[in-house]
Amino acid sequence: MFETINYQDLFVELSLDPIAKSGNLVCPFCGERAFTPYDNGQVHCHACSWHGNAIMLWAKVKGIDNKTAYAELAELYKLNRIKAKKRTRSEALKSLANDLDFLAWARLYFAFYKSDRISPARLQEASGYSRSHFTKVMNGQFDKVSRKAWDEIVLLLKQSINPDELRKDMGMKSGYWKERIQQDAVLKECVSKFQ
Ligand SMILES: [Zn+2]
Repeated sequence: MFETINYQDLFVELSLDPIAKSGNLVCPFCGERAFTPYDNGQVHCHACSWHGNAIMLWAKVKGIDNKTAYAELAELYKLNRIKAKKRTRSEALKSLANDLDFLAWARLYFAFYKSDRISPARLQEASGYSRSHFTKVMNGQFDKVSRKAWDEIVLLLKQSINPDELRKDMGMKSGYWKERIQQDAVLKECVSKFQ
């Protein structure tokens, strides 16, 4: 939901100058008018190179963690104090395609790390949605859930799992598994069985 956030609404809520000139806002960190929001919801300051999204901005300006920032933004969004920009059909399609790509990695992430990382059950609980809703989103069935459920669950997943980490660990090949064996006392002990 925050990918299409209107940063000017956000600046009003943060008591920052909401006036954009040539698409640039005044950066809250360096004071230069070089703070540019992009269509993918990211924002970049061309003066001090601060880069992030609405949640990171909110957290940084208010000096709170990302989780609290997310909760506060979700509340403001519910109250309609911050709004999402209306997307075109092609933007919506692109965003859904990106979500589906991310969700494919998310399914792989849970299968790959198993109990070593956060479980889908715990995330489902944290999302406040039913298992059925959560599973439908995990499986990419955006035709079966509301936009709100989709956006909130995808966002929570994006905050919780890192596909880059997965890509890296999967690309480690046998070196990764060797290290995993060395780190696990039981497995390490059992290697002798295969000598
Ligand atoms: Zn800056």
